[in-house]
Amino acid sequence: MNDRLAGNNTHMALELRPNCECCDKDLPPASEEAYICTFECTFCLDSARDKLGYICANCGGELVRRPIRPAAKLVKNPPSTVRVLRDKPCAPAS
Ligand SMILES: [Zn+2]
Ligand SMILES: [Zn+2]
Repeated sequence: MNDRLAGNNTHMALELRPNCECCDKDLPPASEEAYICTFECTFCLDSARDKLGYICANCGGELVRRPIRPAAKLVKNPPSTVRVLRDKPCAPAS
C-alpha cells in the first residue's frame, strides 16, 4: 500500500513515517529525533544511536537525521499515518 501515489504530488516526498520501527516511539514530522535510511526505514534517536550505531536494522544502510518538512508544506504533502514496526529484535543488519 502506497498512499502517497494517490495525491497529485509533483515531487517525490519522504513518507515521514509516524513512529520508530524499533520501539514504536512517536516521531512527528517536526521531531528532530527521527532517523532514516535511504529506504526510509525510520528510527528514533535512542534506537538509531544506542541500539543500531546509526546502521539501519533492515538494510544495513546509513541512518541520518530526517529533515524537517516546513509546516506549510505538510498541508499538500502530509506525513504518513502508517505505523511500521519490526517484529524482530532491533540490531544492525548483518
Ligand atoms: Zn526507537
Ligand atoms: Zn533501511
